[in-house]
Amino acid sequence: SGRLQGKRCLITAAGAGIGRESALACASEGARVLATDIDAQALAALAAECEAIETHLLDVTRPADIDAFVSAQGAFDVLFNCAGYVHQGSILDCDAEAWRRSFAINVDGMYALCRAVLPGMLAQGRGSIINMSSVASSIKGVPNRFAYSTTKAAVIGLSKAIAADFVTRGVRCNAICPGTIKTPSLSERVAALGGDQDAVWKGFIERQPMGRLGEPKEIAALVVYLASDESSFTTGQTHIIDGGWSN
Ligand code: NAD
Repeated sequence: SGRLQGKRCLITAAGAGIGRESALACASEGARVLATDIDAQALAALAAECEAIETHLLDVTRPADIDAFVSAQGAFDVLFNCAGYVHQGSILDCDAEAWRRSFAINVDGMYALCRAVLPGMLAQGRGSIINMSSVASSIKGVPNRFAYSTTKAAVIGLSKAIAADFVTRGVRCNAICPGTIKTPSLSERVAALGGDQDAVWKGFIERQPMGRLGEPKEIAALVVYLASDESSFTTGQTHIIDGGWSN
């Protein structure tokens, strides 16, 4: 414990899944965590579970809210952009609305948050930005993840560009690229696919060479590492954590 002592962390989509587990992990390492989400109930449950976590409603598709929120908060040491939306289907299934929604949540929100938080980090001369990408991106072509993979590839480019621009000024920026992780939204997506649910789960599990899905805790451990000074020589990288899927 204490690996993030004294650090102030801002996390988006912290109400469930990987974001929630990361908020808890950062707090248990001594960070002061500001956990944000659009789900007030989920945030209340998280705050009740951990005293070191403060919560705030924040929709990453609302840039004016992001600017107002960040300027009221002051400087952060860590930003974990975790919010993301999975559109399932090929380009032929992806109408203009689904395409735009994918970019609004997965890329535009990240742009607005990085832009809002960076000046505070630069003024302090330190900061770590962690952006949620996926193996389904420029790393691997995955069937029926057209819009999702396009946006997650953009996240890699965005992260590398920020890392290059601020490498001499104490701010690091990395992308994390998980394989399939067992989270509430994965359960929802399995349900949405319909049909034989056991077979759908089996399909998700079978594409993982370890024969199992990843756990949110396993991703949170990587987030803590990238947030901490243990990773101080690491920037601009795509951290693949996928149980060997892309190997
Ligand atoms: P999840 O989808 O289970 O939960 C996400 C949270 O996001 C929810 O609490 C929801 O209320 C919140 N949210 C939704 N829209 C929002 C918005 N506009 N603004 C702020 N918050 C919003 O989470 P997850 O499965 O852990 O996924 C988190 C991230 O990890 C996403 O970016 C996802 O693409 C990525 N990812 C997930 C997997 C996986 O298999 N689960 C794999 C690779 C990458």
